Amino acid sequence: MRLQFDDSVEAFRAELLEWLALNRPSAETMAADPSVSTGHAPEWARRWTRTMFDAGWLVPGWPPELGGRNATPTQTLVYLEELAKAGVPRTTNVQGLGIVAPSIIDYGSEAQIRDYAMRILRGEATACLGMSEPDAGSDLAALRTRAVRDGDHFVVDGQKVWTSGANYADFCFVFCRTDPDVPKHKGISILIVDMDSPGITVRPLPEIVHPEHPDLNEVFFDGVQVPADHLVGELNAGWAMANGSLAHERGMVWVSAVQGISEAMAHLHEEAPDRIDALPPDERALAIDRITQVEIDAFAARCLGYRAFAKLARGGSAPEQALMKLFTSETRQAVAEVAAALQGPDALVVGGASFDGHQAIDEPQGTWLEQYFVSFANTISAGTSEIQRTIIAERVLGLPREPRPA
Ligand SMILES: Cc1cc2nc3c(=O)[nH]c(=O)nc-3n(C[C@H](O)[C@H](O)[C@H](O)COP(=O)(O)OP(=O)(O)OC[C@H]3O[C@@H](n4cnc5c(N)ncnc54)[C@H](O)[C@@H]3O)c2cc1C
Repeated sequence: MRLQFDDSVEAFRAELLEWLALNRPSAETMAADPSVSTGHAPEWARRWTRTMFDAGWLVPGWPPELGGRNATPTQTLVYLEELAKAGVPRTTNVQGLGIVAPSIIDYGSEAQIRDYAMRILRGEATACLGMSEPDAGSDLAALRTRAVRDGDHFVVDGQKVWTSGANYADFCFVFCRTDPDVPKHKGISILIVDMDSPGITVRPLPEIVHPEHPDLNEVFFDGVQVPADHLVGELNAGWAMANGSLAHERGMVWVSAVQGISEAMAHLHEEAPDRIDALPPDERALAIDRITQVEIDAFAARCLGYRAFAKLARGGSAPEQALMKLFTSETRQAVAEVAAALQGPDALVVGGASFDGHQAIDEPQGTWLEQYFVSFANTISAGTSEIQRTIIAERVLGLPREPRPA
């Protein structure tokens, strides 16, 4: 079997690559200002998002007025693959571009689209996503942050946690409880909350990788007044919108995930022969088995992704889509774990010399150990692996539902 795209898709790819070569931010620019610790998104990222928007390359599958060029699904697939290969992110405000802007476009008022969604797309504003709370993560519907209507505004009290980018966001897409007297899924609404509103406190959480550039935060709301017209969609209709919001994220995240796995496997291939030779003879067979297993999984992830994509592009539904998040995130984790184990104690030298003598920190995706730590971002966020397995069991395989607490 030989997978290949037709001429129109290859022409689209060539146009993109030519444009990228002329316009992409250099690796030096991105490395010089990688963080948001200065209290705002990196300047290069804002400019780059705007440049892509103006050229119709930010969200190619959307219409031109929203930063796209009405690209077909196959062209969009090629676009995502090429960006991932080039190592250029579309934005550093992943939740803003991937979830908040599309959700506002789907459910928000004209004024909200103009003042919030379009500003994200033009790189003028960054947004964070206020879903998770200390006692409401996997069970999001248990959220307790309250919004009480008082005249022409809501008053918000409560706490969010793991809010990516809240330390530099201009506004937050906050899921709140607006009716405590109905079943928990039915009393949730979404408010757009400006982060400079009085009563908001943001506390960055220490991170194991790059502690100097915190991105996860706790956010506290203490009597925060939010104009009533910042309600997104209908009152108490937030649960349906939450599912819509996350569907945006699930869309085609696997494309860059599969690309990341391929790159990691290429590095592992380079290192593996010498590493295996250096092992005691009785440990070699096990190491080879483990590398072979992740190689098989990496190949399976790619095939599964193309199959899901082909079904979706033909307008069908694809159960494979539900498997992709679970399988790509766990395979990526396994590759890093196998590679770090193969390095043995050397893997623990964070920022030290890597196997080939270069500074380990210069590895494109970080050291193997850093990649292993970072991989948990994807096996936990947007639904943990355990939750994904339950979803697959119930919705894809049709197995009996697991018991739910009353
Ligand atoms: C890098 C990163 C970025 C994030 N960014 C954001 C963000 O921007 N905005 C936001 O709102 N949230 C964000 N999150 C939070 C994320 O959505 C939650 O961490 C996730 O939903 C899990 O919730 P929790 O941490 O409360 O864990 P819990 O729900 O408390 O789960 C703890 C453990 O119990 C398991 N578990 C829970 N329930 C079940 C069950 N029914 N069956 C089997 N096992 C179960 C889980 O799988 C997990 O292993 C982010 C998380 C990470 C890691």
